[in-house]
Amino acid sequence: MHVILIGPQGSGKGTQSERIRSQLNLTSIATGELFRSAIKDGTELGKQIQLIYDRGELIPDHLTVALVEERIANLAREQERGSPLVGALYDGFPRTYGQADALDRLLADRGEAVTSVIAIDVPRETLMRRLAGRRVCAVCGRVYNVDFDPPTIDAVCDTCRGPVLQRADDTQEAVGKRLDLYELETAPLVERYAEEGILTRVDGDRVIDSVTDAIVAAIQERIPVVATRGR
Ligand code: AMP
Repeated sequence: MHVILIGPQGSGKGTQSERIRSQLNLTSIATGELFRSAIKDGTELGKQIQLIYDRGELIPDHLTVALVEERIANLAREQERGSPLVGALYDGFPRTYGQADALDRLLADRGEAVTSVIAIDVPRETLMRRLAGRRVCAVCGRVYNVDFDPPTIDAVCDTCRGPVLQRADDTQEAVGKRLDLYELETAPLVERYAEEGILTRVDGDRVIDSVTDAIVAAIQERIPVVATRGR
């Protein structure tokens, strides 16, 4: 099965993706992660996309789709070899109409289709608060929030004593811009999947466990028999 998780920055998509993938035995296809690791490893692709990535712009569709195609082929190979994975969980993809079309084509070539799409809804004020309050340790990467989960000593990491700073793209102004971009780019995709009858909207403004349960229930509703692992 092929499940797409859609949600703006700050909706908890990354956290939920991690939990759902292990509960339902899905492989993760997270394009942002794939790009970050290509850049870190200095691959040909990494060099090609670094500037675009740093500007916070979208990587061209052909590069993004090629990466996803490779991951889908890997999944199929692993399944042929007897892997227990039952499908893929897409996170951060598709982000454009062209990518959604390409995914439909890639899956159709394999006699498959997108099974369900989950949109995580969180009010804009909550997203602004979560993102604008986010602080990250410059040394070990631990994430804090000045409102809900501050470090014990102001701006000092509990884990490694490193400086806890705000990311350049987490300022009030930049957060607003990123959320506007999400509305512009991704809202039409949510509508598209709603029209196809495969979309479920989940309230993401609740405790993490409740959101996870709602997402898993929504996925299982569309696939009555799903291989689940212990939680
Ligand atoms: P993310 O981790 O999903 O927020 O993505 C980080 C960055 O990776 C984005 O700002 C884009 O530059 C790039 N990226 C991730 N996914 C896509 C995608 N589906 N299409 C184009 N660019 C993407």
